[in-house]
Amino acid sequence: MTALSLKDARKAYGAVEVLRGINLEIEQGEFIVFVGPSGCGKSTLLRMIAGLEEVTGGDLYIGGQRVNDVPPSRRGIAMVFQSYALYPHMTVYDNMAFGMRIAGESRQEIDRRVRAAADSLQLTAYLDRLPKALSGGQRQRVAIGRAICRDPKVFLFDEPLSNLDAALRVATRIEIARLKEQMADTTMIYVTHDQVEAMTLADRIVVLSAGRIEQVGAPLELYERPANLFVAKFIGSPAMNIIKAKISEAGSTTRVDLQAGRTATLDIVTDASQKGKPASFGVRPEDLRVVTDGEDYLFEGEVALVEALGEVTLLYINGPASEEPIVVKLAGIHSIKKGERLHFAADPARFHLFDENGRTYRR
Ligand code: ADP
Ligand code: MG
Repeated sequence: MTALSLKDARKAYGAVEVLRGINLEIEQGEFIVFVGPSGCGKSTLLRMIAGLEEVTGGDLYIGGQRVNDVPPSRRGIAMVFQSYALYPHMTVYDNMAFGMRIAGESRQEIDRRVRAAADSLQLTAYLDRLPKALSGGQRQRVAIGRAICRDPKVFLFDEPLSNLDAALRVATRIEIARLKEQMADTTMIYVTHDQVEAMTLADRIVVLSAGRIEQVGAPLELYERPANLFVAKFIGSPAMNIIKAKISEAGSTTRVDLQAGRTATLDIVTDASQKGKPASFGVRPEDLRVVTDGEDYLFEGEVALVEALGEVTLLYINGPASEEPIVVKLAGIHSIKKGERLHFAADPARFHLFDENGRTYRR
């Protein structure tokens, strides 16, 4: 069942179009994550769904009903923001109960829902505390609990973990993953700029750029089959390496020229007309490996910087025809030093190729 749909939804502030025609269907129970660079319109889109921003073009449907003109309180949504905005003089219990009291719910019903939410978020021991006596992570869980109590059809989160320190982010992310399992029928839309949150929480990720959807898909689908250069560079960290290339052979196999006489052969079928065209060749840092002299290689270059992180070693390589150094991500610890010249190769199945407009050549 479709829980929410946007049809050519637009948002303009005066002459400035911030959302330029969003088309999206979200199924009931789906966990959808919006990602994209700062300023691309993620919060605006979420606030439009919540009813906090007017829709200036197109249509928004929740549960089959067009809600463009329905006030926020009647949309069946609940929203959790980056800043938790708890009432400082009220206990955790009262913070969670407040909305239901305003709505005139019975005391028993309020108590049942507060205790159920507190239980699912491991807040039962803190119900009598004031917010100032809680950690940042606990406060954000209270804000989430307050939203759960409203029993929303659609749950909206706008970067709920971005004010937390690294350890709390991880703990609270796992809490949200549990919540997702417990509330499997509730549709959730979650905005983040954190790759790990997006990849681990999402059923589907929506990648936005400058007010438009670039691609919608399951996390690994976006990672393995990005629709274009933007998504290829946005999903994955460190980002995919892009090397300027020229198509030297098109057809049932495709060959591209890279730097200094190197070529790469891809198992991608291209139209004969593509021969001679400029292209962008992509390979992810984690797909590259060091090969010994004499072995076939993709490119060679000098190590400009080594970052040894223990679990992985990142090499920054000068040399190939790319404006930025090529990043190589090797598992574990290596004795490679700055200044060494090395050869690198990758499995051709992990190569990516984009046309001059940035669109992916599909396999
Ligand atoms: P994100 O959440 O992806 O960082 P936002 O949705 O907050 O981005 O903002 C998208 C764009 O809309 C930005 O360029 C921002 O400056 C603009 N914007 C947001 N709110 C307003 C407003 N009230 N008036 C004018 N422009 C706005
Ligand atoms: Mg935002």
